[in-house]
Amino acid sequence: METISKAIKGGEFLVKETKSEDVFIPEEFNEEQMMMANMAHDFLAAEVFPNLDRIDNHEAGLMESILNKAGELGLLGTSVPEEYGGFGKDLLTNMLMTEYLGAGHSVSVALSAHTGIGTLPILYFGTDAQKNKYLPKLASGEWKGSYCLTEPGSGSDALAAKTKAVLSDDKKHYILNGQKMWITNAGFADVFTVFAQVDGDKFTGFIVEKGYEGLSLGDEEHKMGIKGSSTRQVFFSDCKVPVENVLGEIGKGHHIAFNILNIGRLKLAAAVLGGSKIISTDSIKYANTREQFGRPIAKFGAIRHKLAEQAIRIYTCESAVYRVSNLIDQQEKGLLSEGKDFAASHLGAAEEYAVECAILKVFGSEVLDYVVDEGVQIYGGYGYSADYPMERAYRDSRINRIFEGTNEINRMLCVDMLLKRAMKGQIDLMSPAQKVQSELMSIPDMGEEDNTLFIAEKKIILNMKKAILMVAGSAVQKYMMELAKEQEIIMNIADMMIQMYAAESVLLRTEKLVGIKGEAACIGQLDMMRVFINEANDVISIAAKDAINSMAEGDEQRMLLTGIKRFTKVPPFNSKEARRRIAKELCEAGKYCF
Ligand SMILES: Cc1cc2nc3c(=O)[nH]c(=O)nc-3n(C[C@H](O)[C@H](O)[C@H](O)COP(=O)(O)OP(=O)(O)OC[C@H]3O[C@@H](n4cnc5c(N)ncnc54)[C@H](O)[C@@H]3O)c2cc1C
Repeated sequence: METISKAIKGGEFLVKETKSEDVFIPEEFNEEQMMMANMAHDFLAAEVFPNLDRIDNHEAGLMESILNKAGELGLLGTSVPEEYGGFGKDLLTNMLMTEYLGAGHSVSVALSAHTGIGTLPILYFGTDAQKNKYLPKLASGEWKGSYCLTEPGSGSDALAAKTKAVLSDDKKHYILNGQKMWITNAGFADVFTVFAQVDGDKFTGFIVEKGYEGLSLGDEEHKMGIKGSSTRQVFFSDCKVPVENVLGEIGKGHHIAFNILNIGRLKLAAAVLGGSKIISTDSIKYANTREQFGRPIAKFGAIRHKLAEQAIRIYTCESAVYRVSNLIDQQEKGLLSEGKDFAASHLGAAEEYAVECAILKVFGSEVLDYVVDEGVQIYGGYGYSADYPMERAYRDSRINRIFEGTNEINRMLCVDMLLKRAMKGQIDLMSPAQKVQSELMSIPDMGEEDNTLFIAEKKIILNMKKAILMVAGSAVQKYMMELAKEQEIIMNIADMMIQMYAAESVLLRTEKLVGIKGEAACIGQLDMMRVFINEANDVISIAAKDAINSMAEGDEQRMLLTGIKRFTKVPPFNSKEARRRIAKELCEAGKYCF
């Protein structure tokens, strides 16, 4: 496998090796970036954490006033260029801010919907006049944004939306009729990006203002979690939208919807990190102080296992989030230097790494769910009480597997987009897959195992890639164009890809960190890396066997199963002792400390 010293293209992680010096690690954020992140934390500490109950009870005007304060502090305009009243920060800085702001429960959802899906469509697809009119007000928070894609009858199948737009007789307006569902920030939004079918079949974006005749709202939805965020239906009844408010081109609304989702997925993964770290810290503090059988529960192996496992997944997720953020950031800068304009470079960069964004969305949302679930367990009965923090965290977490494309849709996209890139010739999967096939036929290399630090782990990752190429290659050969109908197998392949990407990311970060700080200063990180890689290897082995047993029989099945055994064979590793060391470090620090 080729080792490269420059950024790899989207999806190429499966067939190329990345060098650790080429990844960005969060330990490299500079002082200015950390200052901004700390400002985001101070904002939550002052305005959000003391008011969580009031926010969830929808106290009149409270969410708007919190968003206004965020606007005054400049927190709503970090990704908007200075010419439109923002701060024009780069993607890495924006992701760091998103992480820190991600710990704010319902406020995080409102804020993220405003700065993401509420603002970015206009930033990337608006005309100069639209950008001049809307962006300064959105960046300052004077106006709040929302995004209306989903309808009662079309969620995952978003392009099947039925809301219609018809040009008025005087050609000055589009007349919108239809209904949108689950719209975040709808209760107080001033600007709605709305998707409708022009003449019934040309999917198109529109900028709709609150005051336009014919727009009305449903009641607040009663939700399981993020209760403080406003979620309503939005109705359009002969709603008159000026023709100059068409966003992008008629019939090209899918460009807006899908491109905005790529960025939304990356942002979601950064946001869940912030939430996860707070929950980990709460869990550690509680376990240190809660005593049963005469000792803190943090002394029990079963609890240490949970504390360590929370940290392992958070550290891994963080490694992957900033690895991808940096790839997109570099790509944006590269496209800008080639002369592409702001929108084309930002959208092109996110599209290039759409596979990675889908991977992160699934992995991140499932890490947060794991972390809050074990958080509840560590708190025991108090975890189930609304007077303690875990109950809210548990409910609030769950939505992340549903919006920004459900995790099923994103799993399918991981595989589908990768195969499409291969079919378009953007990435060569065929020759590496063929190499794996011939390796399967050859006698295994019984040479001495090299257990040197990172060499051993790199071999495991390389073998994970071979396992994926083998299973995916067999599935493509067997089902060809019918593969889309074998969703269970696609889910297996997606799980393998997600685990591999996360495992490689945690390896690269740790290798780079050890290079900077030395091995002795990174004992916890090395343990976390090893435990995660071992766990990921097991997940990959199970998913691969499931796929193989579903699609192959006889000699082929035997050969593929032998291949998986070979590719997932790892030296024995004592995860228990590693987790104990990790938990000890966490408990001594009294907080998430990596
Ligand atoms: C709190 C909240 C806030 C939201 N905010 C917004 C917002 O601001 N703007 C907006 O436009 N939307 C918003 N949404 C909508 C959200 O994006 C959708 O709920 C989501 O895309 C899923 O659509 P659905 O609910 O119709 O589920 P469905 O699409 O009906 O899916 C139901 C189940 O079937 C699965 N499924 C669907 N299709 C397939 C398939 N082809 N293959 C396999 N499985 C499939 C799904 O994964 C899911 O498990 C929000 C939703 C919620 C709950």
